[in-house]
Amino acid sequence: MIRSSRIYVAGHRGLVGGAIMRRIERQGYETIITRTRDELDLTDQQAVNEFFDQQRPEYVFLAAAKVGGIMANSTYPADFIRENLLIQTNVIEAAYRSGVRKLLFLGSSCIYPKLAPQPIKEEYLLTGLLEPTNKAYAIAKIAGLTMVDAYREQFGFNGVSLMPTNLYGPGDNFDLESSHVLPALIRKFHEAKLSGAPTVTVWGTGTPRREFLHVDDLADAAAFIMDKYDGGDILNIGVGEDVSIGELAALVAQIVGYEGEIVFDTSKPDGTPRKLLDNSRLLSLGWRPKIALKDGIVSTYKWYVANGAQQS
Ligand code: GDP
Repeated sequence: MIRSSRIYVAGHRGLVGGAIMRRIERQGYETIITRTRDELDLTDQQAVNEFFDQQRPEYVFLAAAKVGGIMANSTYPADFIRENLLIQTNVIEAAYRSGVRKLLFLGSSCIYPKLAPQPIKEEYLLTGLLEPTNKAYAIAKIAGLTMVDAYREQFGFNGVSLMPTNLYGPGDNFDLESSHVLPALIRKFHEAKLSGAPTVTVWGTGTPRREFLHVDDLADAAAFIMDKYDGGDILNIGVGEDVSIGELAALVAQIVGYEGEIVFDTSKPDGTPRKLLDNSRLLSLGWRPKIALKDGIVSTYKWYVANGAQQS
């Protein structure tokens, strides 16, 4: 990308798209194109085609997706598969048709088999059964990266797919029903501290292990890949270490300053036991994550307090 390139960030108001916006605005790109959901419905094929024909973006960050935590995914699987298939199909096809130079597609670590060997290498894709709680979402994402792959093979279209591990950071969804674990824990401990609640309930057994990547590191990797990588292989992106949900809860409680007890609600699903990505392919290209988990939670908690948390 050069300074005057026409860059479209799809999903610029979301966690990932927002971070990509901060990253590329800081770098001084002059023509960043965005549309809110009201202005452009990405599930509407005709509207997407017209938008690409009129705006002629040259580079596309496809960060628009329907995302959610374990409960949202297992309660609304039809919404997750439908919306994601539509959004990515419309955007990838319109990008190819209108002559986009390069598109970056964002997948997820849940595309890999539930019981994949750890850390998970890219080649473990489609070698086993998926985790049932997010199967519909995962299959949509597998369709997306396969479409990117197929368009490269058949049409020579320059699309690259990044598979991030669990993400967190400013702009995350803190709604307790639909969020992922990290923002949910920040909110639960914050509100329990304010109300003096004696216990905080964490879903599941606390034993599943998850890897957490700060979204600013993801945005940094996305910009790096847009500039430096034109290969056809999918790329995992993670930090290379994971924590148990129990350890994460203790860490968030400590950062928030909550001193009560943590209890586990084992009637809630654990999901996949572990999903630690092998990110050596990305590291071999010269990229490194920079934000340590503790520092990232501290800054995300500050953001939450300043942007919508209950204050007293
Ligand atoms: P996953 O990585 O797709 O399983 O998505 P989540 O981030 O929603 O959940 C990760 C793990 O955290 C699962 O084992 C959840 O059961 C557990 N967890 C514990 N407490 C919570 C909570 O309050 N919200 C969510 N979303 N997950 C929680």
